[in-house]
Parts: sequence; C-alpha cells; structure tokens
Amino acid sequence: MGLGETVDTLARLIAFPTVSADSNMEMIAYLAGRLETAGARVEVMRDAGGTKANLWATLGPDTDGGIVLSGHTDVVPVTDQDWSSEPFVMRQQDGRLFGRGACDMKGFIAACLTVAPVLAARVRDRPVHFAFTHDEETGCIGAGHLVAELRARGLRPGLAIIGEPTEMRVVEGHKGCYEYTTEFNGLAGHGSAPDRGVNAVEYAARYVARLLGLREHLRARAPEGSRFEPPWSTINVGALHGGVAHNVIASRATLDWEMRPVIKPDADFVKQDLAGFVDDILLPAMRAVDPEAAITTHVIGEIEGLEPMPQNAARDLVAELTGANSAHVVPFGTEAGLFQSLGINAVVCGPGSIEQAHKADEFIALDQVQACLDMLHRLAKRL
Ligand SMILES: [Zn+2]
Repeated sequence: MGLGETVDTLARLIAFPTVSADSNMEMIAYLAGRLETAGARVEVMRDAGGTKANLWATLGPDTDGGIVLSGHTDVVPVTDQDWSSEPFVMRQQDGRLFGRGACDMKGFIAACLTVAPVLAARVRDRPVHFAFTHDEETGCIGAGHLVAELRARGLRPGLAIIGEPTEMRVVEGHKGCYEYTTEFNGLAGHGSAPDRGVNAVEYAARYVARLLGLREHLRARAPEGSRFEPPWSTINVGALHGGVAHNVIASRATLDWEMRPVIKPDADFVKQDLAGFVDDILLPAMRAVDPEAAITTHVIGEIEGLEPMPQNAARDLVAELTGANSAHVVPFGTEAGLFQSLGINAVVCGPGSIEQAHKADEFIALDQVQACLDMLHRLAKRL
C-alpha cells in the first residue's frame, strides 16, 4: 500500500539538498505542508540562526504517552564522492532508489508522510508525533533542541521510533559518541631554555597519556553482560597538532579525541577525572610560568548512547509490528539516546542499510521501503 506514492515523495525529498552545512527550511516547509494536509498540528521550531528548523507535528490530543516517529532531515556532503549520477536527483534501477539521503534517512520520512493520513484516521486518545530534525549528522544538534523543548513544556511522549537504516531490524542499543577538541595555549620561547616557556605540545602529551590511562580504566568498568563490541567504553586520540620547529617552545597545540561510552556514568567518570587533572596538576604548572596559559575543551558533539533496558515498550511494540523475535545493538549513534534521556522508551528501526549510508551511490531497496510501510500500517491498526 502506498509504495508508488512513497517513491514519488522520496524523489521530492532527495531533491532538497539538505547537506548539514546548508539550510533545511525548504524541506521543512514541504514536510509541514504535507503533514498539515494529513490533519496534523504542525510547529516549525527555528534554531537561533534562523536558517535551520525542526518540525514537530501531532495527530490526536496534546497529551503524554504518545508515539514519536523521528527522523533527521539533513544529509552528509557529496564532495569528493564518485557518484554514477546526480546525487540530488533520484534514480530508480533494479529495485533500488539511488540518491543522497535515500536510506539515511529520507526513505523513512517519505514512508511516514505516505502513512500520515492513515494514522490520522485511526488516532484516538494516544497521539502520534512526527519529529523531523536538523543537524543530526553534525552531532544530533536539532534533536537536542527538540528534546530540550519537550522537557521545557513538560510533554512526555511514551515511546519513540527512530527510523535510521537498520534494514528494519529492531535496535535497542548503541554507544554514545562524544567528540572534543582540547586546545592548549602556552608560552613560546627558545628551545635552549625550556623552563622559561610553557610548552603546549608537552602538556598536550601529558593529557594524551592521561586519556590512555583512562582508556585502561574503562576496560575494567565494562558493565556485566554488555553486548557491545568491544563491551567497554572506548577513547580514541584522533589528531594532535602543535608546535613550529625543533628549537622553539611550542605555544599552541590542539588535540582531537573522542569517547564512546556504553553507559553514561563512564562519560561522567572521564570528564570528572580530566577536569581534576587539568585544574589540580596541569594548569597550576603552566600558570606558574605564564598566568595566561590555558587549556580549553570544545565540545564538537555529544551523541547520547541508547542503553539497552530490561523494560522497553518501544522495542516490544516494534518487535511485534515487524515480527522480529530479537533486538540488536549497533555501532553507530542516533537520536534515540536523547529521547531516552527524557525518559522516553526508544528504539531504532528503519528501512535501508547503514552500509549504503554516507557513501557514493547511496540507495534504498524498494522492498525495504515496502517493509517500512507495512510496519507503519500495522502501527495505525494498533492505535
Ligand atoms: Zn542518519
């Protein structure tokens, strides 16, 4: 039911070049129009800059306990990718629909739009919400704003289905992904007199050593029964830049690093340890030479993990709707953890494969689109 219409809608959605760096307003306006026609109350929530927005739309009453269908509107760039055809023009071939965002995740959004009128006809006392967000690919920024807004309003939906591509498998867990750049500002000087400068590269190296020590601690903190690979929280040192020459005291260094916590207390443990190390050990030593010396950590993105829970009504519902008898954990991050942080039961289940996401010739298979439509139609019957 509705496959042809979904394909047409997906072609429309792919034609909006909603690369994360650019505005998504045109696509949001289109989605708002479609959902309004279906009978939803729609709300466009602009970000501070005014060029991005989240869409929040509701079928049924404005009460707690509803079901959220969540997807992000942005896509990753196509630069330096070798596409066989124009990435923002959908191409259909051999049962596949090609285009940037086809599986990640405009296919899911197109299916939601197709089934929205059916959901509208069935909705009674339990509302259905659509949450279409901006800037997921750059750290779930839009979803962060949306969840903060729901928190401020005191609105607490019961469960959330995030339609990231899982090939319609039920996913109940993923690690968090926190990315940081830590900047070290010291004092330059001649290499022959190391004590008269503050060597930013050397302090960065000490910080890196601390991170590696924490990484070992995290292994020992792996929660019992963790199904993640590896089962513990990890830290990676991605890039270290600094200094100018052999004989100059480096005045500046930057360190790009990330951690992927399996549980939130691990992230708090790392942050607390680092804060103490910086405030009690590194900074006093640096400032003894130069009071202006500084260490600043910039948050690039903090994607909350989705912790597998013994009780999860979203997982159970989607398993029932798709006929799945097991739930999985995956290595990629989604907006699900943010919803979970609000006390909402969350599950990830959507059409297409993460294998095709972010790559040249991204596609979604037609039978995946159909499977998603089937799930949403069954959801409508359950309302
Ligand atoms: Zn995605």
